[in-house]
Formats: sequence, C-alpha cells, structure tokens
Amino acid sequence: MRSCYDVNYYDLNLQINPADSAVKGFNEIHFTGISSSPKIQIDLFSIWAIDSIVQDRTRLSFERDSNFVFVQLPKPLIAGDKKKVTVYYHGHPVVAKKAPWDGGFVWTKDSLGNYWTGVACEGMGASSWWPCKDHLSDEPDSMDMAFDVPQSYTAVGNGRLVKRTELPNHFTRFQWHVSYPINNYNVTVNIAKYALFTEKHTFKNGTSLDLQYYVLAYNLEKAKTHFQQVHKMMDLYEKFFSVYPFPKDSYKMVETPYWGMEHQSAIAYGNNYKNDVIDWDYIIIHESAHEWWGNNVSCKDHADMWIHESFATYAEVMLMEAAYNYETAVKYLYYQRPRIDNAEPIIGPQDVNYQDWEGSDMYYKGAWALHTLRHYINNDSIWYGVFPAIQKRFASQTITSKDLISFMSDYFHEDLNWFFKQYFYKKEIPVLQIEWIGKKKRSLKYKWTNCDDDFKLPVYFIDCQNELMTLHPKKTVSTLGFPTTKECTKMEYVDYLYYIDLEEVKGLK
Ligand SMILES: [Zn+2]
Repeated sequence: MRSCYDVNYYDLNLQINPADSAVKGFNEIHFTGISSSPKIQIDLFSIWAIDSIVQDRTRLSFERDSNFVFVQLPKPLIAGDKKKVTVYYHGHPVVAKKAPWDGGFVWTKDSLGNYWTGVACEGMGASSWWPCKDHLSDEPDSMDMAFDVPQSYTAVGNGRLVKRTELPNHFTRFQWHVSYPINNYNVTVNIAKYALFTEKHTFKNGTSLDLQYYVLAYNLEKAKTHFQQVHKMMDLYEKFFSVYPFPKDSYKMVETPYWGMEHQSAIAYGNNYKNDVIDWDYIIIHESAHEWWGNNVSCKDHADMWIHESFATYAEVMLMEAAYNYETAVKYLYYQRPRIDNAEPIIGPQDVNYQDWEGSDMYYKGAWALHTLRHYINNDSIWYGVFPAIQKRFASQTITSKDLISFMSDYFHEDLNWFFKQYFYKKEIPVLQIEWIGKKKRSLKYKWTNCDDDFKLPVYFIDCQNELMTLHPKKTVSTLGFPTTKECTKMEYVDYLYYIDLEEVKGLK
C-alpha cells in the first residue's frame, strides 16, 4: 500500500518547542496514483497521536499497526490520480540515544544556556518525527517546510529560507523551500541562537554558489576561518564529480549538537572546528561528498547504502591525492584498513530496510574496493571519468546496486560482476597464496584462494629496480621464474594497489 502511489511533494508544518520538547503540526502529502488501491499506507511512529487525516475537507478513517497507518480513501485510488492527504499529529519525538548513529531528536543547550535542538534519523527513518511514505525509493520532487520556534531562535531547514514571520504567540515561523528531490532522512531542522555568515563560491565552470553557515553566535569568528577549506574542497569535488548538485538550494553547514550528517543542502556540522584529516576537517569533506553520493545519486534500498558511503569515503581518498600526492592517499587508505571487519557483505539483504550492519565495511572496505578497481582498470583518465558519468546519468535519481554495477560495466566496456560479487556481495577477501622456491626468491608458486573461479585480478611483483612483473594467478597453482640480473636478487609483492590478503604457504598445492 506504499507502492500504489508516488509522492510528488511534501508540505511539512510544525511547531517545535524546545522548552517541553513538544512537536505538533501537519504534513500535506501530494501524490500520484500508480496502481488502484482502496487504501494507502503512510508511515508514522506509534508514539505520535494522530489528530486527523483529511482529504478534500473530509476526515478519513484509518487504522494503525505499529509504525504504519493505513488510510481508507473516499474513492479507490487509480493510476494517474493526483491527490493530497494531510496528516495532523502531535506528541514528543524519539530522543536520540547517540546521534547521529542512534538517531532521533537532540534537545540540549549551548554553553550560554540557550536551547539547541537537532534531529538525525538515518536508518531509523523520517517517520520517527513526521508522517511520510518512509521508503528510500520515493523522494518528493520538491518540498516545503515551515517551523515555528520560540522567538529569538532560528530554525534552519533544508533548501532556501523563503520567509520569516513573527507570530502573535511569541513564536517565529521559518519557511524553507527545497527545489530538488530529497531523501526522507535528509529532511532536518536545527534550532539555536544561530549567527549566519554567507560567502560565494565561484566554480571553475563559471557558475557560482551561495555558501551559508549557521553557527552558534559565539563560534562565528572561529567558523569564518575554519570553513575557508570549503572553497578548495568545492573546486576538487567539481573536478572529480561535477558542480554542486543543488545550487538553487545553496550549500549550508549548520552547527549541531552531534557529530555530523549529510542533510541535503543543510549539512549537520559538529566537529568542533578542528582538522582531523591532515589539513582537512573530516565532517566537512565526508558529509559534503554525500551531496553527490547519497543526495544527488541515492540508493533505493538500505541494503545498497554503499552507494552513499563507499563513494563518500573514496572521495576523501581522491581529495588526499589531489591536494597532496598518491603516497598520502595510500597512507590514508592504510590508516583505514585495520578498521575493515569482513563480518558480512557490504551489500545487505534486499527489500527489508536492512540496517543491522555489524561494522563499517561499506566505508573502509568500500573505499579499498574502489581503489582496487582503479588499479584493475589501470588507466586513470578512464577511471576518473566514471564519477562525473555516474553523476550525470543518475542525477536526482534513486538507484540499485545492479543499476550502478551495470552502468560501470558499460562505462569500462567490461562485465564487472565478478569484481562486485567478490568485494560487495561476499564477505571473503581474496587470498593470494605464494611459496618462494629457493633462498634467492627468484622463483614463485602462486594461486588464488577464498574467491570464486572467475576472480581475475592480475597481481604485481616488483624488483629492486622498480621493474614490475605481472602475474595472472588462477585457483590452481602456477609457477614462475623471475628474470635474473646481477643487480637484482629479490622480488616483492606490490601490496598498496589492492585489497587482498597475501599468505606464504609451505608446500603450496
Ligand atoms: Zn557518510
């Protein structure tokens, strides 16, 4: 009963009062029928009281079952119907145990004792705080949101601030408009005594972008200096991916009482104005990368969250290489490598809103897998072209892993299913087993194990004069004698190109 309709537009209107952590209001859901159905499903956590659900001034009957609301329509929905249903509700949202990982609302105070509120709900879902069709596959084409908050506070949502109104009840209304499709979990609100400073960024292609920073007023000077790195980052991400995908909505960083989250055009920033990745701030470079990977190109299913995280983590690696050099990027990858668990495949079970991930492999193993693929492709000008190509092909769309793998296979003119099967659908790491023959290490037995028969990465050994030797291991043992020169007496496996394990075995068969 969610698949029978397609959401076109949300108009979310809430009064949020940090004094008693109460929220009340309504959401208008504008949608088009896809198939006929007497009912539709709307999602809203059972903790909320629903005051009414209305269509064309008629109250609709509905049934609730845990976090689902089944709404009886006055007339059965038919394909092509354009309808609007409004849900009025009130209550107290889930309080985050440990945002952003264990999400919900954060109600806290800044160091001057002023209210400071934020929300992060990735995984848990937007229906934890507002009624919607809570499925990653369906994004509205645009959205309006209005937040009434106590006077003297600012409410920052996604998109552009279109209107600010003083209300007679000592509240101020902030109306925000989002001009692009947006993931439900990216929809956000931040409430604090914010100071705003704005800058312009001019892209190399000549277009310009408004950068807006909502920071706690007492951090303003620090923020002005710290966020200067955004210009350099934007230049690099433009070069790697494309210009910023949501220029009408501006680029915003909003200071939050939790670490960070990729809220579209209103990134949550809570990293205390410190650089923690050489000269870069991890939250700025990682969460901003999600504007391309996750927000512009989005997954349809939680199982495919690697489309967001592997690419955002690899974006950090690309940035390290462009800002410094290849060695720095490799050093960065080796820093991440011990965090890989291989406890489960990177791509999770489909169609169950999977979120019980055991580790962070979609980040670090995902980045290593992309690094591995780069060296398999072995042609950087082709390799770097795939990122803008994906951005262009899937802009403002939700996609599956299969869509992306098939696009990348087409792009590289090779069926890459063997690669993605190994690194994304299986948890096992390919192991290259070797056995040196003779003390001088001039001859080698080798084979693949822990992988499928179609696994075909070539591997490289190097001699002391940096001469590379390419081997094409199979799952059965091969033997090779390295060419002997007087100067060189030793070959070594080149480790930094791939994510595989190397194992020396006695009596390799
Ligand atoms: Zn991320």
